[in-house]
Amino acid sequence: MASYDYDLFVIGGGSGGVRAGRVAASLGKKVAIAEEYRYGGTCVIRGCVPKKLFVYASQFPEHFEDAAGYGWSVPEARFDWSTLVANKDREIARLEGLYRKGLDNAGAEIFDCRAELVDRNTVRLVGLDRTVTAATILIATGGQPNPHAALPGHELCISSNEAFHLDALPRSIAIAGGGYIAVEFANIFHGLGVETTLVYRGKEILGRFDMDLRHMLHETMEKKGIRILCHTIFDRIERRADGRLDAHLHEDGHLVVDTVMLALGRTPNTAGLGLEAAGVAVGPRGEIPVDQFSRTNIDNIYAIGDVTDRVQLTPVAIHEAMCFVETVFKDNPTRPDHDDVATAVFSQPEIGTVGLAEDEAVKRFRHVEVYRASFRPMRHTLSARDEKMMMKLVVDGESRRVVGAHVLGPDAGEMAQILGIAVKARLTKEDFDRTMAVHPSAAEELVTMYQPSYRVRDGERID
Ligand SMILES: Cc1cc2nc3c(=O)[nH]c(=O)nc-3n(C[C@H](O)[C@H](O)[C@H](O)COP(=O)(O)OP(=O)(O)OC[C@H]3O[C@@H](n4cnc5c(N)ncnc54)[C@H](O)[C@@H]3O)c2cc1C
Repeated sequence: MASYDYDLFVIGGGSGGVRAGRVAASLGKKVAIAEEYRYGGTCVIRGCVPKKLFVYASQFPEHFEDAAGYGWSVPEARFDWSTLVANKDREIARLEGLYRKGLDNAGAEIFDCRAELVDRNTVRLVGLDRTVTAATILIATGGQPNPHAALPGHELCISSNEAFHLDALPRSIAIAGGGYIAVEFANIFHGLGVETTLVYRGKEILGRFDMDLRHMLHETMEKKGIRILCHTIFDRIERRADGRLDAHLHEDGHLVVDTVMLALGRTPNTAGLGLEAAGVAVGPRGEIPVDQFSRTNIDNIYAIGDVTDRVQLTPVAIHEAMCFVETVFKDNPTRPDHDDVATAVFSQPEIGTVGLAEDEAVKRFRHVEVYRASFRPMRHTLSARDEKMMMKLVVDGESRRVVGAHVLGPDAGEMAQILGIAVKARLTKEDFDRTMAVHPSAAEELVTMYQPSYRVRDGERID
């Protein structure tokens, strides 16, 4: 049998790669991992974590306003962007250290460099003038913001990567995109006092989420002062003599802003990775196609996380990593389960969701019941904040299973985590009904919507 330097070589030190490398090493396997930028990957360094810290920062102005109704008088608040960025950077560096330490403690060898495939068992450590061999190779290289190179002036724009390190907060920003990253950043910038416009080519923001929540979030964001332009795109971006940007809209008009951010999807990191040399197939979007065990067309090379373009979320990359370790190193073939992934959009208000949107459920089931409530949450009563919350359960009328649960409002992301268990466990509406409410809470609505708001039979709505 051929002998290799390592049992496993992991390319990419993000959510998926670090988990797989650490767990395989802790099983006593000889593991090495290479990361070309910073350990922790997108999620820790320039994704979920810094984003959530910015979300918290951007919520304070509303907290200060709301405090008045509860008897507090808050002196005029001032915000310092550079303090936020520096504090965020300190926290990210701490987390990065923990990721490295976890790998190190487990016995994995850590390389701080880019890695590229030379053949199906050989990896080049770029810049170290060295190649190493491994029996199994795991590609966990993630993705990067789509630069939208077809847009004239795209080089004048920023992506989410730069948004975390702007020298100064712009006075105005236009964000292109309608996905969760675009929507979250629109709320972040607006909350921090930036005049914000969201420009999206589709008919409503946040495709694939439940339509009622999409509409209600859109309305609420507009009410807060975020301008949302749907059905349009930028044609070109130009630098003006005064240093600001002219962002020309398709057909009509243009926006003059300090900054344009493009949040138009993410591209898998496969360019220059040596996939061809190793014989690994690549899909049309640059993604690495894999089978149900995350194996590529080359049987000792696996791929997990965003680079496979399945579900682009951190917990999914981590789950795929754990399934990979079970399959390859514990002789227990395990398929990642991508059904009913609970998720949140950290917009303001938040979305928390799991399972099928109503539109999807209606396509899959002949008889659907929809339970829906919208109301002003208690915390907005004394503050007099004119903002509603929405809860929605989508039920398969035949099996009685709750197939979708959707929340818009404060703490919706936290609720989605718990609802995720119920939906995953295939609980029925009757299970929800016999669950005692927690009172007074907003979430109690989820177990007290006894009558359907309407039914949909064979695609026909019956009120
Ligand atoms: C702004 C933003 C917000 C997000 N918010 C959330 C959220 O709230 N919740 C959530 O679940 N997900 C969120 N995500 C998605 C989440 O970050 C990704 O799904 C997750 O990081 C994917 O993990 P991964 O291991 O596949 O890849 P990554 O975490 O991207 O890690 C890949 C790593 O590989 C490295 N690399 C690439 N090529 C090479 C090479 N050739 N050699 C060595 N190293 C290489 C990269 O530098 C990177 O560090 C967000 C993403 C973004 C951009």
